Amino acid sequence: MTTITVAKGDGIGPEIMDATLEIIMAAGAQLNIEEIEVGEKVYLAGNTSGIAKESWDVIRKNKIFLKSPITTPQGGGYKSLNVTTRKFLGLYSNVRPCMSLHPFVETKHPIMDVVIVRENEEDLYAGIEHQQTDEVVQCLKLISRPGCEKIVRYAFEYAKQQNRKKVTCFTKDNIMKQTDGLFHKVFDEIAIEYPEIENEHWIIDIGAAKLADTPETFDVIVMPNLYGDVLSDVAAQITGSVGLAGSANIGEECAMFEAIHGSAPRRAGQNLANPSGLLQGAIMMLNHIGQTAVAENIQNAWLKTMEDGIHTYDIYKEGTSKQKLGTKEFALAVIANLGNKPSILKAVSYANSSALNLPKYKRKASAKKELVGVDVFIHWAGTEPNELGTLVKVLNTGSLQLNMITNRGIKVYPDGFKETFCTDHWRCRFKPMEGMRIEKDDIIQLMSSANLNAIDIIKTENLYEFDGVAAYSLGQGQ
Ligand code: NAD
Repeated sequence: MTTITVAKGDGIGPEIMDATLEIIMAAGAQLNIEEIEVGEKVYLAGNTSGIAKESWDVIRKNKIFLKSPITTPQGGGYKSLNVTTRKFLGLYSNVRPCMSLHPFVETKHPIMDVVIVRENEEDLYAGIEHQQTDEVVQCLKLISRPGCEKIVRYAFEYAKQQNRKKVTCFTKDNIMKQTDGLFHKVFDEIAIEYPEIENEHWIIDIGAAKLADTPETFDVIVMPNLYGDVLSDVAAQITGSVGLAGSANIGEECAMFEAIHGSAPRRAGQNLANPSGLLQGAIMMLNHIGQTAVAENIQNAWLKTMEDGIHTYDIYKEGTSKQKLGTKEFALAVIANLGNKPSILKAVSYANSSALNLPKYKRKASAKKELVGVDVFIHWAGTEPNELGTLVKVLNTGSLQLNMITNRGIKVYPDGFKETFCTDHWRCRFKPMEGMRIEKDDIIQLMSSANLNAIDIIKTENLYEFDGVAAYSLGQGQ
């Protein structure tokens, strides 16, 4: 028996949650339910995060959270409960199976069965943004080794458990060699541990085009946060049935399961909504807590119901569908099919699925880290790179010398192109003279000299070698 936290949410939330719970309990799920209130009422009572402290205590105690969609009130100040929950609870893995139900639900991709595994905590979503000059703002893209290891291992473990044949990695490491490069490198390292599962890497642009065009060539796809955010919606949509997809948010301690759609307020209270998305989330939850036989029985009953043409209004089509039912009646139809399997759609089997083996991250021994230069970012309103070159050369110390200047990454000094457009945000790279070593003191001396010369440094980035390998990008065109 597992105690789970349930939030019925807003709009259609309570109806689809009631239907989902009725189905899973009828199938014999061994669950105690502890309900909490989150969402609109809590927001409107003055709590800007949409959840009370006592509710956090319940979620953290039970660790498993089944959540209906909630309505985030319009207007400023209200924070998204989903984003907060993922980050607070360390739910690093977002798993979204996207399967078409051809010929029972219309789709351009009849044999699509893809699972998107999205990193859920880092990348550009760390939310670290700054304006640095009049013309330039930045957002820090943070990718960590623990973040990569956890999500990539999750993808392979999931593939192994679900008898999937291939894991594909999408990155843009031809451009972002450090950040996406790390993600790809970790993918290659971990893939070796799973020789029975095929692995491949695609650059995200062509990979995304292929996913939209021929999704049947993919199985499990793992990717960093931003790409996963975009492509998991694309993948769900092109199955032809965004309303049928569920999602799991998994952490080391806790996990949250939900439908991918929102609270559809216009459909609320009319016994119309399709509970399938949340039911898919609940099936993932049952698999997660080891109640695989119950999960399998429900999934096969649901597939059979779909196949029988018993549909809610959102997917009902004259000709393909047989019966249009309301939320409650649809749930009863799924319950009536418990024990049955689909005959045209592929029945699932979770029976032999082992638990995921997800060891805690272990920090590696530190590499030998050597300071080999500094990038000094300058706010300068001029337009002529050679003029800036002359200006900043006065900062050359006994050991640090101006090596190049870039503007938005492209080298403009020395030997830039006059055609290159320049903003007021300049990176001046200083490196030691041939054969010399530098210390942090050299950088402090350089910055202090800049201050005396009224050169406006907005930030610096140290350049390092780790175990003798340069760990920074070259200037474009360098
Ligand atoms: P939505 O997903 O609620 O609705 C989009 C469309 O799909 C609507 O036409 C709706 O009628 C239909 N639809 C969605 N789910 C359905 C279902 N189960 N059965 C039948 N039809 C369904 O998106 P929206 O209208 O953009 O957002 C409404 C509210 O939901 C907003 O307040 C938004 O913030 C919130 N939202 C919450 C979550 C979440 O809690 N995870 C996710 C997305 C949006």
